[in-house]
Amino acid sequence: MRLANERAELVRFAQRLRPEGLVVGTSGNLSVRVGDLVAATPSGLDYDVLTPELICVTDLHGEQLEGELDPTSEMPLHLSVYNTTDHTSVVHTHATAAAVASTLVDELPVVHYLTALFGGPVRVAPYATYGTPELAASVTEALKGRAGCLMSNHGTVTVGDSLAKAYLLNQYLEWLCEVWLRAATAGAALGVSPRELPGDELDRVIEKFGSYGQVPPPGTGEGAGEAGR
Ligand code: 13P
Ligand code: ZN
Repeated sequence: MRLANERAELVRFAQRLRPEGLVVGTSGNLSVRVGDLVAATPSGLDYDVLTPELICVTDLHGEQLEGELDPTSEMPLHLSVYNTTDHTSVVHTHATAAAVASTLVDELPVVHYLTALFGGPVRVAPYATYGTPELAASVTEALKGRAGCLMSNHGTVTVGDSLAKAYLLNQYLEWLCEVWLRAATAGAALGVSPRELPGDELDRVIEKFGSYGQVPPPGTGEGAGEAGR
């Protein structure tokens, strides 16, 4: 079986989608690229019954090499990302606040500095029918220079150099949409619009994020000391 580790990781993250509210039912899909292979969730399969064996493996043209079920209907979108960027993971969800926001604006207003995680203001890809090359092209364009986008009247796509990162960005994107929607709703009641951050502030935060985040020093943190006992 090719890509055994990636298959197991895809199952782990796919099975978090529903409990964490990022999708309902069989909505959404995930994939990982390794070299010229792509491992992706099957189309329309209940995540509860997904196993590593049921993960599909294709080449970068979508030719299926392993897996008995059909891969996600959004393969054109996943493959377009892999064929035009260096990203190695794609997460597509129908998270509620993101789906709502995608019906209202062409770009998510920059009301919070965490927008910097995406490399700039998050665009909304113009609508096209799910699973079509038109949707793949629309999303690929909206993702230029960004780690995520909204899909008009549909949902989200986030990308990264690991599934963990792309998944985390999807959670952040949903949170940003929720913050903006609440601010816009509360603001409407008060007769004001949410305050937006200026572009130079976003650039400043993008720069700061270049050195943000820490890991425990070697020999500390969880499990430290156990080896010597
Ligand atoms: P699949 O079940 O084919 O992955 O499709 C779900 C979806 O979200 C389509 O946009
Ligand atoms: Zn979808």
